[in-house]
Amino acid sequence: MTVQLAPEVRGLLLPGTLDWLDEPPLSPYIGGTWRTPRSDTVIDVVDPGTGQTLTTYAASSAEDVADAVAAARTAFDDGRWSELDPEAREERLRHLADLLEADAGTIAQVEALDTGKPLAEARLDIAEAVAVLRYYAGWATKAEGSVIPAPRCFLATATREPIGVCAAITPWNYPLPILMYKLAPALAFGNTFVAKPSEQTVLSTAYLTELCAAAGIPDGVVNVVPGAGATGAALAASPGIDKIAFTGSTRTGQAVMRAAAGTLTRVSLELGGKSPQLVFADADIPAAVDGVMAGIWTNTGQVCVAGSRLLVDRRLHDEFVTELLDRTRDLVIGHGLDPATTLGPLISRDQRDRVTALVERAAADGADVRTTAPAPGRDGYFVPPTVVTRVRPGQSIEREEVFGPVLTVLPFDDEDDAVRLANSSPYGLASAVWSTDASRVHRVSRRLRAGTVWVNTYGVFHPTLPFGGVKASGFGRELGSAAVEHYTELKTTVIGL
Ligand code: ADP
Repeated sequence: MTVQLAPEVRGLLLPGTLDWLDEPPLSPYIGGTWRTPRSDTVIDVVDPGTGQTLTTYAASSAEDVADAVAAARTAFDDGRWSELDPEAREERLRHLADLLEADAGTIAQVEALDTGKPLAEARLDIAEAVAVLRYYAGWATKAEGSVIPAPRCFLATATREPIGVCAAITPWNYPLPILMYKLAPALAFGNTFVAKPSEQTVLSTAYLTELCAAAGIPDGVVNVVPGAGATGAALAASPGIDKIAFTGSTRTGQAVMRAAAGTLTRVSLELGGKSPQLVFADADIPAAVDGVMAGIWTNTGQVCVAGSRLLVDRRLHDEFVTELLDRTRDLVIGHGLDPATTLGPLISRDQRDRVTALVERAAADGADVRTTAPAPGRDGYFVPPTVVTRVRPGQSIEREEVFGPVLTVLPFDDEDDAVRLANSSPYGLASAVWSTDASRVHRVSRRLRAGTVWVNTYGVFHPTLPFGGVKASGFGRELGSAAVEHYTELKTTVIGL
């Protein structure tokens, strides 16, 4: 179905983007064909920058999910991918990366339209997806096994084998990179795949699916079931999958884990966060202000690693907040496709209302809420950048993941106080330490309960760096060599000599 575009949005799109949007393939992709979904649940594709419905699609049903899993199983069992020479898998994945890179301009526009994120950020998403794909393409030939010093009357080896059918359920904030953290290692090691993108952002996954076919990845190796929670629940409970990787909210992650328990499916969960940024009095303050800005305004705060809790030495508090608010005035709020925009809308009306309600409740509870610009008076889902001071530790705005452009600020008195406040969150995804004292940096980093500690920098992602959380932020590490454990199984072979 053709996408309906507001004239001002149409005017911002490249011819290639308009061509693709003429008929985006928004149906289940199973065994190499786009199928007519067997469900009448209709989902809107919405432009968050205007609130306009762009098009609709039918959610994949439980039967569609079962078909997709069966197609992935057949493709795995017959060895069309798992038994290819590793170099051949590497070559196809590199080809896919080249195709993705060649179409980056178009896909970035599609992503900016669908997610609302500024075009420059969408371009970074595509570049990251390409880099992750190339990194894991190289792993196809490098997952070595070992010879084990068993008793000498045996020759014993442990070799890395693919697991089988891997499933992924992904969120709307970084549709392509987060999918690629799962898809790229799964394919590199010879697994087959079923993806369920977020119902709110299906376009870029559809684009990538077409490219998988063009790259020569055999039919049935990559299958996609667009849909919402019910589709995800059917996938998580499917007896035909061997592993499920989930990124999303803690509550849904718990549901996925419960469903997977029924079939003993392996699970990895990358969940919410409420990541602290600790600014000590000896920090390079301009750099810390930059880092705090990047940590909370990027993707309008809809980032699992958003640095949404600023903890700052009491002596610096007022000066730091003033400087931050001054700098925040430079942000340009607008439609993601407008090249001037640096802060886009939130993903949906519901998300905007949820964020607004949390901020209003904080104000009613006595916090000091400051914004630097009114949200544009348009129909998109805009929320102004918001800094909340005079919060009480444990107050909802300080404890809950907001997933919007909202920063809470708490002063601390000394290092112990800073670490105590940082670790008081139920989450443990990321954190940052801003200090020029090398001993302090090491002391504090060691004590922070988080999957990642950034020191004098923020939000650094790279294909080589393992990423994931502790506590309510989940478990399992994506990216880097850590993914080898998740997407391969060790086979022990013992030969009597
Ligand atoms: P958010 O609130 O950030 O959208 P969710 O955790 O609800 O996060 O969504 C993340 C992904 O999980 C999406 O693809 C969504 O469709 C999917 N999902 C939602 N509910 C379920 C469920 N019960 N089982 C499996 N997947 C689900």
